[in-house]
Amino acid sequence: MRKGIINIGRCVADHPRSVIAKLSSVAPTIGHSKCVKSTKESRPSFSSSPASQVMSEIQDNSDTRVLITGGLGQLGLGLARNLRKLFGNKSVLLSDIKKPTPEEAASGPFVFADVLDLQSLRKIVVNHGVDWIVHYSALLSSIGEMNVPLAMKVNIESVHNVLELAREFDLRVFIPSTIGAFGPESPRDPTPDVCIQRPKTIYGVAKVHAELLGEYYHHRYGVDFRSLRYPGIISSEKEPGGGTTDYAVDIFQSALTSGRFACNLESDTRLPMMYIDDCIRATVDFMGFPSDKLSLRTYNIHAMSFTPEELASAIKRRIANFQIEYQVVQRMQDIADKWPKRFDDANARKDWGWSHEYGVDELVEVMLRKTKAKLDGASR
Ligand code: NAD
Repeated sequence: MRKGIINIGRCVADHPRSVIAKLSSVAPTIGHSKCVKSTKESRPSFSSSPASQVMSEIQDNSDTRVLITGGLGQLGLGLARNLRKLFGNKSVLLSDIKKPTPEEAASGPFVFADVLDLQSLRKIVVNHGVDWIVHYSALLSSIGEMNVPLAMKVNIESVHNVLELAREFDLRVFIPSTIGAFGPESPRDPTPDVCIQRPKTIYGVAKVHAELLGEYYHHRYGVDFRSLRYPGIISSEKEPGGGTTDYAVDIFQSALTSGRFACNLESDTRLPMMYIDDCIRATVDFMGFPSDKLSLRTYNIHAMSFTPEELASAIKRRIANFQIEYQVVQRMQDIADKWPKRFDDANARKDWGWSHEYGVDELVEVMLRKTKAKLDGASR
């Protein structure tokens, strides 16, 4: 084993990529072949240590390994940046059906990938030697309710494609889930990992489907499927993609520009939330953890839980004249009223050492600072 490489378990020559590379010229005809499958024992792994300490074979090999679908949304770029820092720029292939901005295009490899097009995905996996898929493409909760047929395609059919690719090519798969995977019949404060799940949105139904089908592929075919149930994710870099928790992102820009914010949820709507840096760190650490040490394939992760009124109070402590008013959008309120108020994430903390860094005060501080910097940059 090379110095600094942890938990690799095979030499480079054994890697399925070498086999794939040899076969890639006949990719279209080998799509359904099992001949590129490797044994579970021979997989590369990030490591069991925190992400910041992780060393991997990937660092020594500039081939792309991780494909992120829907990578130009709120979360993909941040994850790509983090993984590229750890494993090298070319180790992550961002993909989406949108055109990247010049900055996004310059940040590293990008490819067009429609997750509904299995054959194109298959070509990407083969030609780029992908061995991980982070499947971020989705229509989020609020947008999904506005276009149910499209949400069924993007959020359900794409999962079939990704899991089939994982089975064919021995890929690891990470598909995030959500607080929206629970419903009013679930215990809501706190919501444990395993309990009744009867979501009332197509987004939630699709996420339960992804959790269950991923776990089925794990048990039936040995696919290394993993999922984290993210709370509402708060970030300043990208616009949120049409989720029910988007108010907790939008509020910061309004606080800094007009000093007023019209919130589309009731003042006392309590929901679990997380700052993006915690979300990405959780994802990288979880992806790198040894598979056989995980007691679940789908874990809740929790950081903080607040209402719009509580978030507004925390902002007022820094911007004294900030005002919040409530213009409730019933369609969104109906979704939020059925979701968990708090996640029980004891299993993630116990099994793979998850812990959050950002509470409400840290969140408000960093969001005001970064949003202000973004606004200042845009006005120059
Ligand atoms: P987003 O809405 O910002 O981005 C989704 C991306 O998917 C978009 O860039 C879109 O162009 C792309 N997409 C849509 N249709 C596609 C298709 N046919 N082929 C390929 N790409 C397509 O979402 P996000 O906030 O970045 O979320 C990423 C993942 O995390 C999603 O699976 C989401 O369910 C999950 N999640 C997000 C949050 C959150 O608060 N952002 C919370 C819980 C879970």
